[in-house]
Amino acid sequence: MLAKVPKGTNDILPEQIDCWYYLENKTREVLQNYGYREIRTPAFEHTELFVRGIGETTDIVQKEMFTFQDRKGRSLTLRPEGTAPVVRAYLEHNLGRENPLSKLFYIGSMFRCEKPQAGRYRQFNQFGAEAIGSPLPVIDAEIIAAALSIYKQLGLTDLKLMLNSVGCRKCRPQYLKALKDYFGEKREMLCVDCRQRYEQNPLRILDCKKEKCQLVIKKCPSIFEYLCEDCANHFNTLRNCLDNIGITYQINPLLVRGLDYYTKTAFEIVAEELGAQNAVGGGGRYDYLVEELGGKSTPAVGFAAGMERILETMLKQGIRIPVWDGIRVFIAVTSQEQVVTALSIANQIREKGISAEMDFLGKSLKSQMRTANKLQVPYVLILGSEELKENKVTIKDMVNGVQEEISLNDILAYLKKAYF
Ligand code: AMP
Repeated sequence: MLAKVPKGTNDILPEQIDCWYYLENKTREVLQNYGYREIRTPAFEHTELFVRGIGETTDIVQKEMFTFQDRKGRSLTLRPEGTAPVVRAYLEHNLGRENPLSKLFYIGSMFRCEKPQAGRYRQFNQFGAEAIGSPLPVIDAEIIAAALSIYKQLGLTDLKLMLNSVGCRKCRPQYLKALKDYFGEKREMLCVDCRQRYEQNPLRILDCKKEKCQLVIKKCPSIFEYLCEDCANHFNTLRNCLDNIGITYQINPLLVRGLDYYTKTAFEIVAEELGAQNAVGGGGRYDYLVEELGGKSTPAVGFAAGMERILETMLKQGIRIPVWDGIRVFIAVTSQEQVVTALSIANQIREKGISAEMDFLGKSLKSQMRTANKLQVPYVLILGSEELKENKVTIKDMVNGVQEEISLNDILAYLKKAYF
């Protein structure tokens, strides 16, 4: 039986790779222009990091982590998200000492044991950015602008920014109490999961997508009636910043996001055409996470975006992606005695930064020309024994079919003239 990829995972095939390069390159370009520097953390961490960081009552920690033991019995987990690892690295390497504001970004695979469906995978890729050190709403606005700028640079249109505040330690308890009072009377109308959420963290109920829960959620108390002065001011200043830089948004008091560490600002970016899993990115402020992970109290804000969903949206919106030029030169031999010479010529061409290919299957010249045609190479070099004795080769322009003899020493100059 043929081996298959595990459920919820995907191969990225050579024919799809240009999209990924394009997306990764644009991400790096935009985030660096915004002053963020790339950081790469391991694919797995100590389980404790995520339990403490993401929160014990979240779906991620309760049922979605890929956790395993190493040979010494230590519990490790494939990272389900990028923020806790970045904050761990920030603390471990004392990045805050040199920079009171650390602006970091990452690109990498995340792992969540979710029920696979369109736009929801068990291994998926995210890019994300974190600004650690500033309490000011202007940095929330900047990070939202950075995220939106990536989507814009990719050519995406019609994305919606949803905005909310989820309060802080001071005001959230009052809101949680109000939610408990409200949902307490309607507990039997909620799904089994939400009844458990009611006991553990009623804020999580707001995230439930089930229809019967939605009916109850729709009329629940709004966070905006409970925000403390500090949180309300933060939210209003953020709105003012966004208004001033021309970013439009929709306020959604039900937006709570799936991770416990958010405080104050929470946002999500959605692409309507994606259907049920329509969030292409999201983020928010997490002022307690650094402290929670053992550092001194440090405010921070960040976002993460789902790369598969972005590519899917680009496809749906018909965005054209620049593709690889392909092989530029094919070196064909008329006899197998010439393969070493062909390899040597191919390598010299490649070293000059021009892609070159040759035959490795012992094929006839006719068949090699067919391969060259299939590769759509603009030039084929044909090595013939008689010509080689005179240090010459034939170069064929595949576009107009013109063939000419040139000296071996002139190949690079000829190709450079054609390509640079
Ligand atoms: P989160 O880390 O949950 O805030 O998610 C940030 C973004 O990652 C989401 O807006 C999605 O675009 C993407 N994402 C989250 N979970 C998955 C998943 N299981 N499969 C694919 N993309 C995902």
